[in-house]
Amino acid sequence: MTQEILHKEVVIIGSGPAGLTAAIYAARADLKPLVIEGPQPGGQLTITTEVENYPGFAEGIQGPELMEQFRAQAARFGTEFLVSWIDKVDLSERPFTLHTAEGTVKAETLIIASGASAKWLGIPGEAPAPHGLGGLGVSACATCDGFFFKGKKIVVVGGGDTAMEEATFLTRYASSVTVVHRRDHLRASKIMQDKAMKNEKIDFIWNTDVVEILGTPESGVAGVRLYNNVTHEETTFDCEGVFIAIGHKPNTDMFKGWLEMDDIGYLKTNGHSMATNVPGVFACGDAQDSFYRQAITAAGTGCMAAIDAERYLDNLPVPTLTGEEVTIEGEIVTADHETIIMPDGEVISNHADGEAAPAGD
Ligand code: NAP
Repeated sequence: MTQEILHKEVVIIGSGPAGLTAAIYAARADLKPLVIEGPQPGGQLTITTEVENYPGFAEGIQGPELMEQFRAQAARFGTEFLVSWIDKVDLSERPFTLHTAEGTVKAETLIIASGASAKWLGIPGEAPAPHGLGGLGVSACATCDGFFFKGKKIVVVGGGDTAMEEATFLTRYASSVTVVHRRDHLRASKIMQDKAMKNEKIDFIWNTDVVEILGTPESGVAGVRLYNNVTHEETTFDCEGVFIAIGHKPNTDMFKGWLEMDDIGYLKTNGHSMATNVPGVFACGDAQDSFYRQAITAAGTGCMAAIDAERYLDNLPVPTLTGEEVTIEGEIVTADHETIIMPDGEVISNHADGEAAPAGD
């Protein structure tokens, strides 16, 4: 057993837009939250350059600077920070236990904002500058960076829905978009494939791996080296931008077995709240959202998770994945809102006048 180093009402895992927004709200509610920062403090925005779509910054702002502002705002209201790696968690009972490299942290409520990571090919030229051309023409986010590619020739790598969506979106700016896919057919859904295939600006190169991104730090991306895995031919293809769209991986492995998640690992939450299947555990940001994946939506769900945690700590009912609502004291409001099941098993009416619940159909 490692030594207990902290016991907090709210512990937030992750310090991207979701985690730090949750911290701002929880700190302003006087809950003195702890943010545990992982290997990439500040999250994915710290590896981007200009952010032009975050509201409130008319001239845009650099990703790392934006996250410094988030962090300073959270700190201003009393958020504590711990930089540590979490080895494992125990969510079997409250307070929840987090085993970190520094010792054990106990949490009355837990907000998971551990984010997701874009998958990368691991090829030469792909790493973030100065080691590669990442940020200098290589990106994994068309919504973030597409605007910088007006009139340019772009390659999109991947054959799933993300690749089709990114390719279609990029045609707003690019002179042409070429999708390079490693097989001879796409994984993407029919509707997304059809949209991309009908788009006159999009071409496809099949059975081909991108094996290197070419260019220089001074002039950015100049092309890609391609390997046809059927003919074994190697060629180069000129382009000024490369978007890697081979999927994302939510950083949720440590919650396997505790929390409900989809096949990829995105945490499931109740539609009306950020509650997971474990009462008192909330999830937000890219660890929970496979669809929008924007800084502003992550911040929005971080705010929701903090409000849910506040409600829960105030012994107010919070919806769970099943549609039931639970309180921190263990009362369960049934999904139809008609009855309350007390911690000792007694069933009482949820009607203000105490009337028995009307009989069902
Ligand atoms: P995905 O479905 O897993 O597709 C990933 C694609 O990248 C596949 O075509 C795969 O090739 C390719 N790929 C993976 N690793 C690669 C590598 N090392 N080298 C080359 N290619 C590689 O991921 P996704 O497209 O991000 O979609 C994830 C989920 O989100 C899906 O359920 C999708 O439907 C959903 N989504 C929905 C929308 C929407 O409806 N608007 C938008 C985006 C995502 P193979 O095909 O050969 O495996």
